Order: sequence, then C-alpha cells, then structure tokens
Amino acid sequence: MGEEDHCSLCHHGEAVYMRRYSGERLCRRCFIKTFERRVARTISEYGMFRYDDRIAVAVSGGKDSLSLMDLLARIESLHPYSELAAITVDEGISEYRDEAVEIARTEARGRGVEHVVVSFKDQFGYTLDDMVAVLKERSFEAYPCTICGVLRRRSLNQAARELGADVIATAHTLDDVVQTYILNIMRGDLAKPWSGRAVKQFVPRVTPFRLSPEEEVAFYAYLKGVYLQTQACRYAPTSSRNLVRLFLNGFEAKHPGALFTALRSMEKMVLPEKRPTSTTCRICGEPSSREVCRACEILGAVSGEAGTTRSHEKPSAD
Ligand SMILES: [Zn+2]
Ligand SMILES: [Zn+2]
Repeated sequence: MGEEDHCSLCHHGEAVYMRRYSGERLCRRCFIKTFERRVARTISEYGMFRYDDRIAVAVSGGKDSLSLMDLLARIESLHPYSELAAITVDEGISEYRDEAVEIARTEARGRGVEHVVVSFKDQFGYTLDDMVAVLKERSFEAYPCTICGVLRRRSLNQAARELGADVIATAHTLDDVVQTYILNIMRGDLAKPWSGRAVKQFVPRVTPFRLSPEEEVAFYAYLKGVYLQTQACRYAPTSSRNLVRLFLNGFEAKHPGALFTALRSMEKMVLPEKRPTSTTCRICGEPSSREVCRACEILGAVSGEAGTTRSHEKPSAD
C-alpha cells in the first residue's frame, strides 16, 4: 500500500474517505470517530440539550434521520436523566412513505427507542396524495412540498407535545441548513429560527447534523449499515429547494468548504429571531401569528370550506 492509501490521522488504516475541504484521507475508524465527535461538539456548541431533556427525534425513515436516531440513542444511554422517543410522520405518499415507515419502525425497535407514527390521514382526514389531487382540481396554488412542509411541522409539533418532549431533534444536515437560509432570503423572510425553549405550545427544534455535510452523513449511514431506502419521493424534484441544492452542490464541488463558510457567515448576520407567537389559530388552537394558521388554510381549501381561496404564501422553506 502506498503512502496515499493510508489514513492521514492514524497513519495505518486504509483510507476510505477523502474530505475535500480539509484534504484529510480517513480510514473507516477515524471517519466514524471524527464524524461522531463533530456531532457531539455541535450539540454542546449550540447548547441543544439539557441533561434531563425528553428528546423527540423526527425519523422519516431516510438515511439521515436513521443515523441521527442511532447516534442519539447511544448518546442518550450515557445520560441517565434524559429520554429519547422517535416520531415518524406518515404523509401518505404511496410507496415512498410506506417503505420508510416500516424501516423506521424496525430500526427504532432494534434500539429500544419508543416510536410513534402519526399520519396525515388520521390527523387531517386526507393523505398528501389525496390533498395534492384535490387542490389541483380546485386550482389552489400550493406546491406539494409546501403543503407537506406546513402540515408535517404541525404533526410533529403536536406529536412531540403529546409525548411530553422538551425538544425535537431533526436530521437536517449542513446542506439543508444552508439551503433553508438561501430559500428564506429568496422568500424575503430572513429571521433566524427560534433557538430558545418552549413558548406555550411550541416545541423547539434542534439540528445536531448542522455542521455535518450531507455527503458525510450518507457515508456514515453506509458505514453503520443503516438501511437505505430504495424509493424516492416523487414530489421532491419539483421543489424550489431542489434548485438551491443543485446550485450549492455545484459550488461546493468547485470550492470545497464553501458550505461551512456560508453557514458561518449566515450565523454571523445580525437577524431578528423568529420568536414563536403566543397567539393561536382560531380554528385549531395551535400557535400561529395569523388568525387562521396555514395548516387550517390548506385543510380548508382541501375540504372546500375555503371556496376559491387562493394561497398567497410563497413556497415554504421546508
Ligand atoms: Zn485512521
Ligand atoms: Zn389552525
């Protein structure tokens, strides 16, 4: 084995991963070790958890969220006063979500993590597929990813509250977080997400993978033998997020490390924090800065109660 095939950290393992932004070539062991250390550092740098938190991890069944559940389950086992539960939102996207829900269930059980599944169908009376079809007929202007994002946020918040969770951990990666900042700029909505604790009925969210590039999360999932889903969401290619993703991927390929720089620059910007509102929607009673929240507006349009109301909202960042 030539010099180049060796790990640049331990100097004896066979290099299996090249970190382009740092020039490091890493063996399997060193990759896993440095990846996990960075996640632990992220959690402490941002003060994501308290020692006695009941943490709800959002598990879609994709590789990112399964890796996060795996990592949090191990971290949590070292903290006797904290608890971990997993929530899967079943939006009702045929084939894609059916497969993911099963995977999430199996993986949670295997780690002894309490797992709840909440479905759009049970909560709202319709699957996402049904809603997309109905809204298309009524020419209500909303993208599937917008509808899904608004309702998923609602489902997750409600389920976390019912579980008595103090905080929701989501598997958004460095790539996702930078994409969201850029989408927010494009939408003219440049407030920072709320980083404080619960306000009324709102359960705060944290992102332990925010300093971990998507590619590394994927490689970690692969090394850990996390189940990889075969089906892709059929709505994803139509999202505005996808346009931003393509641009950022191209930029990162040309300038390795650009995503880190972007995140750090964005974090340095002095922005108002989007404090969760203390007012509630008059229909559902969930936190909302508007009289009728966006979830109720969408559901009203689906059930026909809102008549020909059109959504003037811009695409959601999620
Ligand atoms: Zn090594
Ligand atoms: Zn509402």
